[in-house]
Amino acid sequence: MILTKRKMRTGPMEMNGERKETRKGSINTFVPLIDQMKAQIASKDPWFSLEFFPPKTMEGANDLFQRMKVLAQGQPLFCDVTWHPSNHPGDVEKPTSSMCVASTMLNYLNINTMIHMTCTHQPKMKIKEHLITAKKEGIRNILALRGDFLPGEDWDPKDNNLSYAKDFVKFIREEHDNHFVIAVAGYPVGHPECPSYRKDLRHLKEKVDAGADFVISQLFFDAKTFIDFVDDCRKIGITCPIIPGILPIQSYDSLRHISKLAKLEVPKNIGDTINPIKGNDEAIRKFGIFQAVEMCKVLLNSGKAPGLHFYTLNRDYATNCILKKLGLFAVDIQRPLPWKLSANYARIDEEIRPIFWNMRPQSYICRTSDWDKFPNGRWGNSSLASFGKLTDYYMFYLNQPRKAELLKMWGTHLEKEEDVWKVFQLYITGEENENGIKISMIPWNDDVLSTETSLITNELSYLNSQGVLTINSQPAINGLSSSDPVFGWGYPNGYVYQKAYLEFFVAKEKADILKDILPKYPQVNYHIVSSKGDINDSNCDETQPIAVTWGVFPGQEIIQPTVVDPVAFNIWKQEAFDLWKTNWGNLYQPDSESRKIINYFHEHYLLVNLVDNEFQKPTCLWDIMADMLSEEKRR
Ligand code: FAD
Repeated sequence: MILTKRKMRTGPMEMNGERKETRKGSINTFVPLIDQMKAQIASKDPWFSLEFFPPKTMEGANDLFQRMKVLAQGQPLFCDVTWHPSNHPGDVEKPTSSMCVASTMLNYLNINTMIHMTCTHQPKMKIKEHLITAKKEGIRNILALRGDFLPGEDWDPKDNNLSYAKDFVKFIREEHDNHFVIAVAGYPVGHPECPSYRKDLRHLKEKVDAGADFVISQLFFDAKTFIDFVDDCRKIGITCPIIPGILPIQSYDSLRHISKLAKLEVPKNIGDTINPIKGNDEAIRKFGIFQAVEMCKVLLNSGKAPGLHFYTLNRDYATNCILKKLGLFAVDIQRPLPWKLSANYARIDEEIRPIFWNMRPQSYICRTSDWDKFPNGRWGNSSLASFGKLTDYYMFYLNQPRKAELLKMWGTHLEKEEDVWKVFQLYITGEENENGIKISMIPWNDDVLSTETSLITNELSYLNSQGVLTINSQPAINGLSSSDPVFGWGYPNGYVYQKAYLEFFVAKEKADILKDILPKYPQVNYHIVSSKGDINDSNCDETQPIAVTWGVFPGQEIIQPTVVDPVAFNIWKQEAFDLWKTNWGNLYQPDSESRKIINYFHEHYLLVNLVDNEFQKPTCLWDIMADMLSEEKRR
């Protein structure tokens, strides 16, 4: 969907080892999945995609999203989520529903997403609602399926006039025209219910003729099966892309279970290899990786498989190994923007965000999810768009370690302010605390520290040890190449710039000293606010945003993707103060000393942000901080 990501292949794949720039367009361009696929086919650039199924429990969902994140680093063309009969229309709130998993993948993990949908066991009205929900969530790709019948079921396909997947494809096209890219299932040895392979092929052609854009195949065990299938499809006039479905064998039991479900025979040579090692999961997994790599090489070299679709079974290890061995696991070598782009087409014009949520991007997406345009006038000319409430979106809990783990990181018993300072300092330095635990997060950061932050670790570590509790920062840069490995983003051959930025909580006494010092530094813009709002000092215009990151590129307008916006700061400020209580203080008993200490920070510390507009010189922000700390000692 995002056309400006550039890819570099890793590993030893000979057939397509060179760096390619197949994706062009504006910084952020929506292109339907089928067109992306066709572009990759035209440039003979193989891709991969990944299937997941919705987990049964919240813990399972948490685990799944971590695995998706690992695999998504390799830049799949898309990921898809299977459909289960238990899904209900509009079911986005239930964390384990297909719709919710698909929406989370798209909106919070920034993955181009396809959802499976079946047309059995439900009236047409419900199917209509599912399609509307998918559209609302921003999902643009559907794998349209008939679904299976279980023995003894009283569902008659004629009940909703959608007897076959081809009817469902037609229905989606009638209801939503070309809004969705539609995939359908193909069966390399024929669908088990169909009396003959040839007949099933003809039914596949009917599905494609009804409006399907591409085909994903059922799993198979031998490359020749798929190659013959593609040849047979072409002979009867099926011209769309046909993608092989690859099942990495991961254990004896799962192979038996899945082949039984798909009504497929495991070939004798595979059976003979794994039967003697059936109790040894590790050996089977190794064989599964070897077998899949060899089969995928034949498929890709045959020219019949333009990409590979992996049935991951919600595990990352085997698929990750296979992709790396094939050289298909891509790494992003140039970010289109300094922050991660959304995969939701509704946010396709989004080129600007306030810096405050840099470390809490999911919260920002959640709070702006009702915007119908980006930036929606917030940084344009029209009326101001308002930020939504920070709702109880379950993603925030999914990302959180459990209470016991948080307590081990942040301290079971806090006795003094300095205990909290230490937590902030160790988070910055990456050192272990007294429990031997690394502090991998603080409430204000739901992403890992960026590489550029590591360039100012010493300064930040010192400040935190002195009670200047930093929650966001960036160093100044003056015209570095847009391909710089740490700071680069945007189009090639451009230059990127940043103003030094520092945001922190600090005790009121220190903030008072700061206020005395700041007039000596007219190049610095600042905000100093309290949780109650009784202190709200600033030398900024009340509404005018300040660009803190920008880029200049050949033949393009200047892009300013990150701003310090006084109006957005007022919204962020509330969230930033609340996090003391909601995400930290609440871990402790109501009357405990620890809870009181955290509440003290909420009540008595002030939130400060500083922008040094003099980006061409070494920043003065460290001098200001040093002056503040030495003046405090002197007093
Ligand atoms: P259809 O294309 O409708 O075919 C079903 C049968 O009807 C075939 O035997 C076909 O030959 C026959 N047929 C088609 N048209 C006609 C006609 N006009 N006259 C007579 N016979 C006809 N199931 C789920 O529940 N959830 C999922 O998420 C899911 N994901 C899948 C993903 C893939 C890639 C695949 C391959 C399968 C998936 N399935 C899933 C399983 C699928 O639902 C079953 O295989 C189901 O039995 C057939 O679905 P279909 O869409 O292929 O059906």
